[in-house]
This record gives sequence, C-alpha cells and structure tokens, in this order.
Amino acid sequence: MKETKRVKGRIVGAEVVMSLVCISCKKRMEEIDSADRFIECQSCKMSLLKEFLKPAVSANLFLVDESGKSVGHFHCPESVLNAVFESLKGNECYNVEESDVTKVSRKLITETLLLLKKASFKLLMDDMKVASIDIL
Ligand SMILES: [Zn+2]
Repeated sequence: MKETKRVKGRIVGAEVVMSLVCISCKKRMEEIDSADRFIECQSCKMSLLKEFLKPAVSANLFLVDESGKSVGHFHCPESVLNAVFESLKGNECYNVEESDVTKVSRKLITETLLLLKKASFKLLMDDMKVASIDIL
C-alpha cells in the first residue's frame, strides 16, 4: 500500500517546469524561451514545428508545515496545478483567470503557488508527489 500523508502548511519554494511533448517520440523537451518556430527534440533529434507540440507543465515544490518545519521537496503534476487554478478562479486575492496552466506564464504560476497562505496537501510519500492541494 502506498503511504499518503496529510500536511497543513504552505509552499515556500517552487520551480515551475514548462516543457513540450514530442509528437514523434512522446518524450518531454525542455521549453527554451525563444520565438523560434522550431525545436530540436533532445531524445529523437528531430526538429519539430512547435505549433504541433502539446505543452506540459509541472512543478517541484518545497513545503513547510504550520509550525514552519520543512516537510520536503515534492513533485506536483499538471493535473494538481490545474485544480489549484480552477479553485482560485474568481478569487479577488489572486490574479487567476485561467485554469489551464499550460496557458499561464511560469512567473504567474510560481507567484500564485508561493502566495497561497495556507493549504492542506495530500502527499504520496513513496513517490514524493503531491496528490492534491486544498486551499484553506
Ligand atoms: Zn522526440
């Protein structure tokens, strides 16, 4: 059985990773900020037309509990980020109008995560992954 843990606390560090999924080999490519229409896949070495590639977003989060004690680094998948943005949409305290994080800038995702004052995290301890985030 997978070990899960509920932690109340907040995100004090976030690294948002934006990548593109290769249409040819399905591997992820690091998105390099450039206006280039093409990108070369590091895995299959094909040069690809960017507009046909699906963007993917994930984050590495550093969490502390309510007393400020470190909980550790956890990987946060796109589905969890989308759910956070969905629940913040229309909330006056946050600048969130879009719940599809692939359409939001890295900067806004990072700021939004770091500004969440208090949340309840469901953590998968075996994979060091965030299963869900409930804003309190
Ligand atoms: Zn490829």
